[in-house]
Parts: sequence; structure tokens; C-alpha cells
Amino acid sequence: MATVLWLQGGACSGNTMSFTTAEEPSVVDLIVDFGLDLIWHPSLGEELGENAKKIFKDVASGARPLDIFVFEGTVIEGPEGSGRFNMFAERPMKDWVNDIAAQAQIVVALGDCACWGGVPATDPNPTSSTGLQFHKRAKGGFLGADFKSKFGLPVINIPGCPAHPDWITQIIVALASGRAGDIALDELHRPLTFFKSFTQTGCTRVQFFEYKQSTTSFGEGTRTGCLFYEFGCRGPMTHSPCNRILWNRQSSKTRAGMPCTGCTEPEFPFFDLAPGTVFKTQKVSGVVPKEVPEGNDHLTYMAHAMAARVAAPQWSKEDMFVV
Ligand code: SF4
Ligand code: SF4
Repeated sequence: MATVLWLQGGACSGNTMSFTTAEEPSVVDLIVDFGLDLIWHPSLGEELGENAKKIFKDVASGARPLDIFVFEGTVIEGPEGSGRFNMFAERPMKDWVNDIAAQAQIVVALGDCACWGGVPATDPNPTSSTGLQFHKRAKGGFLGADFKSKFGLPVINIPGCPAHPDWITQIIVALASGRAGDIALDELHRPLTFFKSFTQTGCTRVQFFEYKQSTTSFGEGTRTGCLFYEFGCRGPMTHSPCNRILWNRQSSKTRAGMPCTGCTEPEFPFFDLAPGTVFKTQKVSGVVPKEVPEGNDHLTYMAHAMAARVAAPQWSKEDMFVV
């Protein structure tokens, strides 16, 4: 029976909320069918006070073996490296993280904040927040670039703001059933099974993207046009399966007419949320997108865009979903 300890640092609990809504498998499936022993969780843990503290102390000292350590939220190092902005069970949370990560067989960073600092680590980063093994795109973070858990793996990152519920439970099942060694990771330690494809993979607007047909105003004509050209959709350069593993098993942001804001990438929230950058495609000379789809350069993109616009058939300018 695999043991799991889940702690929260600088977090909004979004990933906990996401976890509790998982369906394939659900949290109940994890415990009943897969025999997971969730020894403590901030919202679901049964022990309180001294009893809870004993769990943390026993795990941190190695007296109680731990298979999987899940951390949600940033590691808060402020003020001045003391970590005292985030006290937990009478110690800075960062000290618990340090000790428990050293004892766990496998360490999982859940959500952007734990992976690379997320929104709290955005400048000016008043709490000195960082991720477990990355600070934004730079390897290092709190545990350091060379950290490996007892099983010999670096921190496994499951990013997202929040991560999709099934990304969480499916990875936990793989880890708990002894398949940790089979999980291929990308250079940012994200499981490739989820993060090799793009948000755009499976988007229902992709035919409009191909013919460079844009929606004309936000919230209007949500079934026509693509959100890349005016509304800042990051679908072509964001690694996520949001249009393959749908949210609530029904939809995704882009299917609902909302641009992907790139929440599985270390730079999220892009441009540090500066005014005029949210839901707005950043352009050079007011015409060319500043960022082009991954794998393209500006010249190739422009040549393709011009040809696609000329070739665009009438249907690509119309609503595809007439009822
Ligand atoms: S809406 Fe976004 S994800 Fe969908 S095709 Fe356009 S750019 Fe790609
Ligand atoms: S569509 Fe984009 S912003 Fe939305 S959850 Fe997926 S990766 Fe994150």
C-alpha cells in the first residue's frame, strides 16, 4: 500500500479542489481500488494538533517511511530567507519540505506554484516564493538543480493553474503502482504523456487557425474564428492536453471561446500581468504576433499566414456549428 503525504505552501488550494473532483480515477478509487494510504492532507487529513505533528515529525526523521510526497503551492523563503512568512506545525514550512523531500521515495510538485513559483513568484515576489526544483524556467528552485528523491527521480512536475484533476490522479496511480520508472519527463520534468502535445491539439477552432481566420470581438462569434490573432490565445505554444482530456469531461477554455493563457508553462502569468497584455495578442508593428507557434520563426510564419489568408475558403469565415 503506497503512502502519500500532501502538504501546502503558498497556495490557494486550487489543486486540492481540482484533486477532489477527479473522475478517472476519483479520490475514492485511489483509496478503495488502488489501496492508497493518504496519511495526511490539509483538507482531507483526519489527524489534528499533536497527532498531525507526530506524523510530520516521524516522516521527516525517517521513522515512518513515505512513498510519495505531494507538495502544492510555493516554497516561501521570506522574510530574508527565514521562511517565517509561512509557519506550519511550529516550523517554517520550508524546513518541513526540506526534511520530508529528503525522506520520500518520490516527490511531486503539483500546480504552477509548486513547480516554478507561479503567480506568487511574479515580480516583485514579496514572499520570496519559489518552486520545488525550478524558479520559473531556471532549474534550481528550493531543492536545487541536482535534487533526486530516494527512488532516484527529480521532482515530477504536474503544472497548471490548477492542474486538471485526472492528470493528478493518473500520475499518482502510476507512481503508487510501481511504474514511476516508466514515466517519461520533458526538460521541465513534466510527464510527456500529458505535456508533449499542445493545448491546440484537439481544439475545435484549429481549422480557423490554419486559414488565419480570427474572431472579431471577444465573446462574439465564439464558434467562428480562432483566438490566436487578437485575443492572446497561447494554444499553439502551450504544452497541455486540455483539448484531449476535457475539463468536466465536456469542454475546454478554447472550446468555450476563452483563450488559453498558457498556465502549464513556467512563464505564466505572462508579461507579469502588465496592463494591456491579458487576453490581447502582443504584436510587432501592430500586425505580426510577437510570439509565433512553437517551432516557427517569424519569416516562415508570415509566408504561411499570407498564403493561408489568400487560400481561405468561404466556409472558414462562417459558423461551423449551425443548429
Ligand atoms: S483558439 Fe487557441 S488553441 Fe484553438 S486553434 Fe486558435 S490558437 Fe489554437
Ligand atoms: S487551456 Fe491553457 S490556460 Fe486553460 S487550463 Fe489548459 S493550459 Fe491552462
